Amino acid sequence: MGRTLDKSNAHFRKALTRLPLGVASNFRYWGEDRTIYVKRGRGGRIWDLDDNAYVDYRLGYGPAILGYADPRVDAAARQGMEVGGVFALSTEREYAVAARIAKMVPAAELVRFSNSGTEAVMAALRLARAYTGRSSYVLLEGGYHGLFDAALWTLGVDGWNPGSNTDPPVVPYSRGVPEITRQLLHVAPMNDANRLEDIFRAHAGEIAAMLMEPIQGNCCGITADPAYVKAVRELCDRYGVVLIIDEVKSGFRVARGGVQELMGVRADLCTFAKAMANGYQIAAIGGREDIMRQYGHGVAHGGTYTAHSVALAAAEKTLQIIDETPALETIAAYGRRLQAGMSEILNARGIVHSFAGHPSMGGLFFAETPPTNYRDWKSSDYTFYDTMARHLHDEGVLCEPDSREPWFICEAHDESCLADTLRGFEIAVDRTIAE
Ligand code: PMP
Repeated sequence: MGRTLDKSNAHFRKALTRLPLGVASNFRYWGEDRTIYVKRGRGGRIWDLDDNAYVDYRLGYGPAILGYADPRVDAAARQGMEVGGVFALSTEREYAVAARIAKMVPAAELVRFSNSGTEAVMAALRLARAYTGRSSYVLLEGGYHGLFDAALWTLGVDGWNPGSNTDPPVVPYSRGVPEITRQLLHVAPMNDANRLEDIFRAHAGEIAAMLMEPIQGNCCGITADPAYVKAVRELCDRYGVVLIIDEVKSGFRVARGGVQELMGVRADLCTFAKAMANGYQIAAIGGREDIMRQYGHGVAHGGTYTAHSVALAAAEKTLQIIDETPALETIAAYGRRLQAGMSEILNARGIVHSFAGHPSMGGLFFAETPPTNYRDWKSSDYTFYDTMARHLHDEGVLCEPDSREPWFICEAHDESCLADTLRGFEIAVDRTIAE
């Protein structure tokens, strides 16, 4: 394709003078000569400053479920703008959106809004602690739940050793996370109910919450065995632990009722963001009435920009479309065709591979079977993926350079996107083999 990034590179040097790493979020920095600046996005594609077009499978890390600048949602957002913004008071539309969420996700009996996934998960964890009167919590290895201290723990370190289920090498994901917060945290591997029960038993009466993504949208879509999710539900009930299912990525994407519908499980609390407003900034916490009614009994929640009229109107329209049209079926069908097309190309070259997650947010993995937990992935060889992703970008297909991020599909990905993607994929695979 002969992609040049001259304008992005020049802008990067200018941006560096006022923005650390030249970007607004660490994740957007792709290196000195590969950091891309976007001019615009439409449907399933984006264009950079150099007018390179890309079929985009990042979709802002998931939000643009219907496609960029969806005219239906943008028209609703404009109406929301007419309402006037934020008022330090509530508006009528909050009820309509909460009612729609409750209809789609029965666990969300009551709903509160937030501004981001981070805020929603923070709020859910606080609710769980207030409800149980306990402080500690369990995270599943490989999950990402936002930028607050309690969530910023990981197993990912350079030169790491995988440790063992009973002694996982848990480290802060960031400098600046106080080591003392580690004392409240337990980390469990996905798909190991025995290990989870060991933790619950050893710390009975101390654990407020279990926080998990049953489809790990931050680790190539590694998917919990539904039997494991059922076991988690039962263990939480037995030990009085609040089950928080983080649907920030899976919500309103993998099914109308999210991963809970897909796996037949009901959370005590669940969190949403991303797809709920096609990219407008809004998030939500939903949950059991008795837990949610802790608001009003001394549990803090608020936020100046919460339920902004523009985002709320966008959420109302987006959720209506997802609920009442076959958008999610269209998205999943595209995802299946994309994966079939990739498989055909890889099989023709004898490259062993598998997919994890859901067709609407699938992870591509170069092994016969997908990983079943984070340490499987971490111990695997993902260099082929890394190289292939770089070549794909040169061919005008944007997946995340890090194989942990699934490929997000939107309703606007169409035949031409699919054709361009598979053409680019074939070239990228061949270049990777040759390298
Ligand atoms: N939870 C999950 C599952 C996420 O994927 C993310 C973001 N990728 C978050 C929480 C945090 O959301 P935000 O970036 O909106 O704060």
